[in-house]
Amino acid sequence: MRVIEGLAAMRDACAAARRGSARLGFVPTMGSLHAGHLHLVAVARERVPRVALSIFVNPLQFGPAEDFARYPRDAERDRALAGSAGVDLLWMPTLKAMYPEGPRVTVAPGPLGEELEGAARPGHFAGVLTVVLKLFAVVQPDVAVFGRKDAQQAALVRRMVADFDLPVDVVVAPTVRESDGLALSSRNVYLDAGARRRAVLLSRALAAGVAHFRGGERRGAALAAAARAVLDAEPAIAVDYVACADPGTFTPAERATEACVLAVAARVGSTRLIDNVVLGEGLEADVRLPG
Ligand code: AMP
Repeated sequence: MRVIEGLAAMRDACAAARRGSARLGFVPTMGSLHAGHLHLVAVARERVPRVALSIFVNPLQFGPAEDFARYPRDAERDRALAGSAGVDLLWMPTLKAMYPEGPRVTVAPGPLGEELEGAARPGHFAGVLTVVLKLFAVVQPDVAVFGRKDAQQAALVRRMVADFDLPVDVVVAPTVRESDGLALSSRNVYLDAGARRRAVLLSRALAAGVAHFRGGERRGAALAAAARAVLDAEPAIAVDYVACADPGTFTPAERATEACVLAVAARVGSTRLIDNVVLGEGLEADVRLPG
């Protein structure tokens, strides 16, 4: 594995990796790598012979009251994990190299970026799409893999790629979960023992929604309410939103279909977590780590 910092060096390394028409895969991350990230690398590897992974904690996608400064960072551990996962090019650009004069031109996410996470975190998706576009411009991947864990983000990246005619195949990989169902997240390190126990309720809430869907319920609001009831029963959890969303627009679905996304965001103690499930697939479609 080559570890690269500079933009020009990364551009050259990616061009070399693509030479001889080898296809290049790309997994953008904010580091503090876990099995969810490594699964994205594995999914990329199934499709292409070479995989690049970037680690960049992007200040643009954090709100002023959010956790940019204390976001977990562990470059040494990340290097070891990326190497063992079969990453060919590990790119760790500096803040100065990415935004030498601060951000100027940014990507406007459009209506899809106003819903759910966009409403809860103003400016978040503009920050995400801006950095993804910049990363794509340097890496020029043939395939880019994103996690379903951030379903709205993946949908927005797809939208941007389509609207800007970018020659990138966007693949969305299933969510990797702990054995009890908690979706892996770099932010899970913030959870103390009590919060960790309660955090499992997010996936339980999603499972309750799926169970109602399988029982024949098709009213989106009723499915969201069934999920929400699980979270409202725990006073130490503050729900941001629970929604049964149309997979294209992320607006509330009146009539739920198999493709609809049941999405939840909640604060467990001081930690904000998100999770989601595709109703027709259920949590079984996700990857579960052994206990
Ligand atoms: P992050 O480092 O949190 O910005 O995430 C980088 C990529 O990893 C995004 O495409 C996420 O959707 C994906 N990801 C994060 N957590 C998981 C997970 N538990 N399972 C699968 N993919 C994930």
